[in-house]
Amino acid sequence: MRIANISGRLALVVDGRAVDVEKASGGRFSADPQAVYERWEEFRSWAAAAELPAGTALDPAELASPAPAPRQTLAIGLNYRDHAAESGFAVPEGLPPVFTKFVTSITGPVTEVKLPTGGGDTDWEVELVAVIGRRAEGVHEADAWSHVAGLAVGQDISERVGQLTGPAPQFSLGKSHPGFAPIGPWLVTPDEFDDPDDLELRCAVNGEEVQKGRTRDLVLSVPALIVRLSAVLPLLPGDVVFTGTPAGVGIGRDPRRFLAAGDVLVSSVEGIGELRQTFVA
Ligand code: ZN
Repeated sequence: MRIANISGRLALVVDGRAVDVEKASGGRFSADPQAVYERWEEFRSWAAAAELPAGTALDPAELASPAPAPRQTLAIGLNYRDHAAESGFAVPEGLPPVFTKFVTSITGPVTEVKLPTGGGDTDWEVELVAVIGRRAEGVHEADAWSHVAGLAVGQDISERVGQLTGPAPQFSLGKSHPGFAPIGPWLVTPDEFDDPDDLELRCAVNGEEVQKGRTRDLVLSVPALIVRLSAVLPLLPGDVVFTGTPAGVGIGRDPRRFLAAGDVLVSSVEGIGELRQTFVA
């Protein structure tokens, strides 16, 4: 199953067309995309059995984040060995660094992103994003996938000067400028994948491929992250987890490379779709 946020309304994506959930369910489910995760199991059962009307054409420009207002966004650093190496860090022994992307940075999949005023080094990080569908607290690994509503593509856009300057790094602020957390193009449930633990991620700048990895190379897989995170705090329905980026970010290149006005960043995950960000001054 795929769900999308179309101009703020929850939709099922069926054969590439959009079915409005509030209308199709006769008002049983709200149009608010964020609200559906509170009733995820009930929604899935309804969607599986419902006789849905024919969908309407889906315009990518109208897509917003399938989880537009999570109570918590947890983002994971250094979760691929090759990216830890290019960043000059050892692979973390216990929990990797965890930071947040503040909710105002979340957008849909096709956007214009304003480069932070005063410059800075704006960089890309394609990531698999997991959205929680059932409260997770003290979860065991065998049950972890059952707490995931679905997967989406995410971009952990990062302003490296702000992120790394100062006595302690400012990961959360440096990664939370407006538009720095595009998510989409929709949410795909885990059962749609042959193996949800092995998906290819790609990222290109102006058509040139800069990142290519597979989620099987995550240091902590999606289930392992849910175990480790839910041992510390509860993960709530609708929460977003950015799972980390593979090698190929701008700061890890020689010479370093950062985004400039006019650059187009395309990020994709196999079996889900792609994000497209255009950067402006
Ligand atoms: Zn990241």
